[in-house]
Amino acid sequence: MAFCKNCGQELPVDAKACPNCGTDVEQPTAAPAAAPAAPAADAKDNMWMAVLAYLGILVLIPLLVEPAKNSPFVRFHANQGLILLIVGLLSAIPVLGCVVGVFCLVLTIMGIINAVNGRMKELPLIGRFRLLK
Ligand SMILES: [Zn+2]
Repeated sequence: MAFCKNCGQELPVDAKACPNCGTDVEQPTAAPAAAPAAPAADAKDNMWMAVLAYLGILVLIPLLVEPAKNSPFVRFHANQGLILLIVGLLSAIPVLGCVVGVFCLVLTIMGIINAVNGRMKELPLIGRFRLLK
């Protein structure tokens, strides 16, 4: 129950002004909106979805499955997994493909390690690109 800070009159719920003396009632600051899921919890709950993002075409699972696809943590890793999948297609090129393949493999392992550890760390070279919003 709120009371007028001027005269002490008990105030009706939602009163804009004191019915006794007319003093404006200070509205209690609105309760902060539900805090977004702590990144730590997000990362913990969605760790395996983030790992899937690096396993080739399995990236479609974290991209399409609710609620994982709404997780910033999962989307971050799905973005990188998708880029690795596309870059990985270049490994079909003779000679150069070997280099690309090794490069993708190393980045894939780094990405999985980041996902398992709950980190949203950009991978070298490809991490800056954003295919997903
Ligand atoms: Zn009052």
